[in-house]
Amino acid sequence: MAVPSDAAQRAAQLRQQLQEAGYAYYVLDAPILPDGVYDALYRELQDLETAHPELIRPDSPTQRVGDRPASQFQSHRHAIPLYSLENAFDQGELQQWQERWQRQGQKLLGELPAFDYVCELKIDGSALALTYEHGVLTRGVTRGDGTTGEEITQNIRTIRTIPLRLAVESPPPLVEVRGEAFLPLGEFERINQERGEGGEPLFANPRNAAAGTLRQLDPQVVDRRRLEFFPYTLHLPGGESPLSQWDSLELLQTFGFRVNPHRQRCPDLAAVSAYFEAWREKRHDLPYMTDGVVVKLNSIPLQTQLGFTQKFPRWAIALKYPAEEVSTQVKDITVNVGRTGAVTPMAIMEPVAVAGTTVQRATLHNADRIAELDIRIGDTVIIRKAGEIIPEVVQVLPALRPPGTLPFVMPSHCPECASPLVRPKTEAVTRCVNRQCPAILRGAIEHWASRDALDIQGLGEKWVAQLVGAGFVSSLDQLYTLTIEQLLTLERMGQKSAANLVGAIAASKTQPYARVLYGLGIRHVGKVNAEMLTQAFPTVEELASARVSDLEGIYGIGGEIAQAVYDWFQAPHHQTLIENLQTLGLCFAQTLAIEEAGGKGAIATPTRIAGQSFVITGTLPTLSRKEAQALIEQAGGKVVSAVSSKINYLVVGANPGSKLTKAQQLGIPQLEERELRQLLE
Ligand code: NAD
Repeated sequence: MAVPSDAAQRAAQLRQQLQEAGYAYYVLDAPILPDGVYDALYRELQDLETAHPELIRPDSPTQRVGDRPASQFQSHRHAIPLYSLENAFDQGELQQWQERWQRQGQKLLGELPAFDYVCELKIDGSALALTYEHGVLTRGVTRGDGTTGEEITQNIRTIRTIPLRLAVESPPPLVEVRGEAFLPLGEFERINQERGEGGEPLFANPRNAAAGTLRQLDPQVVDRRRLEFFPYTLHLPGGESPLSQWDSLELLQTFGFRVNPHRQRCPDLAAVSAYFEAWREKRHDLPYMTDGVVVKLNSIPLQTQLGFTQKFPRWAIALKYPAEEVSTQVKDITVNVGRTGAVTPMAIMEPVAVAGTTVQRATLHNADRIAELDIRIGDTVIIRKAGEIIPEVVQVLPALRPPGTLPFVMPSHCPECASPLVRPKTEAVTRCVNRQCPAILRGAIEHWASRDALDIQGLGEKWVAQLVGAGFVSSLDQLYTLTIEQLLTLERMGQKSAANLVGAIAASKTQPYARVLYGLGIRHVGKVNAEMLTQAFPTVEELASARVSDLEGIYGIGGEIAQAVYDWFQAPHHQTLIENLQTLGLCFAQTLAIEEAGGKGAIATPTRIAGQSFVITGTLPTLSRKEAQALIEQAGGKVVSAVSSKINYLVVGANPGSKLTKAQQLGIPQLEERELRQLLE
């Protein structure tokens, strides 16, 4: 079957892009792509080559182990090649790996012997091969392309955790040790700071910094940068090697090496997964970078039987933690009209796993951002999803752009109601200003019904779209006059659901004033601001007649918010809306809200934590993050995501992440859930 021309073209583009990235990474120690992106593009090329083997070229990056060694040092051929590791990106791939080695094992041995695994942290550094003759370190070589590396013995001698002489009485005549040289994070930061001050380019990450340092021509520079080393493989050529990986690690320790203490024996893949999960967050608290877990068959005889593929040992695999930056292709660019009328362009992409979830949409923010990125349909892009933030496109890879693409142009008219879009000179946002626009209306109702606002159970996106589409609801107050008969005319609406929905809408009338105010969707008025406003103006009449200066006088309300609230209440249609909602019985006064809600959701008087900020890390014993946040906010505090010197407390639960270390460094007080509750009382 002939290879489709677009597949051939894509493969050629990928080869070129990967080759450039590999050179920058391995030879220059200055990567031009994030690792997750390199891995994704590499996978894509591998998949294309598997589907169309005619596309494989001898110079394809998939056909080599590492990259060529740089030329300043003498090259040295490894007696035993230094292979790379196969990667698994999820549990399914780990399972497949086990099936693969077991099939191979059965083929070779007939019956499989009992086996177990050793899990080690995958240290993000640079691999080294060390030779000891009669106990003395005589040679240190980089991995290079796996077959030939660079001899850097002088530099290696500066690493304090590498013994110059093995710590045993009568060492074997020849000992080969492989392991990872790495820069501790603190040292990496120190070096980069120094480089920044000296006007030198910064290292992109500790791995490249370690590789760059090892290849320094001046051993004194290497000596100043405190590299460290963890060994993980032991060969005793001609001698009697240990029978297991576990024993090898123990023997390495006896030889005087510092072996990573976090190794673990695992009887099966379930135990491997538990180890992987246990380190997912905890690894951020280690003083060095790790990007996954290396799983190895413990039995060395079994390892020897299984041997190697062209590139990898069959008996080991690297299980990697999900990357926060990956690449994917843009299938379409659409625009989305939100409840404020803001028109947000969105990239619709080939689904891709990023930071542990599969995503297929990413925000492109606004027209300026699109122009800056020059993003086009068909482009390969880098997307990032850090923490819980919506993924965003951070970069386009023009080298992978298919021919014939056109720049994206923002529409001039609203895709929902066809009215002309407006972009005020001072804003980056394009807006639909038609109040009747169905998209704005849908957004406003969804917000009104949302959990933190009126919390109307069952009134989700699907019903909202139908209610607006059928013309039953054209303003928020009309929700409260909906009848069961009307609802029954909607597609797939049954008697029971209709009755429940009418009931849930009616029940929302007991929600307190602050939630109602938040539900109105006034610009810049989030939950915290809504509570502060209702504290300061206990009735809506007082709030509606407040001047900008009165509003600005409230602690925590800035000029922009004050102006937005003032403007909102000036609009006659908003005044009518408030009157209608009041007539229908919704709460627009603070005391009324507390009485009617029977205390539920009652607004606590801001206590001594008013205006203080909190960060939450780890799993709290009884409260979810959202619940803890709600408690803090009800008491006048706020919850932010990043630890900085400006925050007042770090709330710490089980398995805290790197935030704890940072807070400790900054001297931020920490609270357990129990202490938090005491503070809020
Ligand atoms: P790898 O880093 O994925 O895995 C193999 C390496 O893991 C070994 O050589 C060893 O050095 C290391 N390792 C750490 N702890 C170990 C342990 N306990 N046991 C065994 N080995 C351990 O593979 P690689 O071939 O060195 O490099 C490929 C990776 O490099 C890619 O996955 C990519 O992320 C990165 N890369 C990035 C770019 C870029 O442009 N960003 C370019 C090329 C390569």
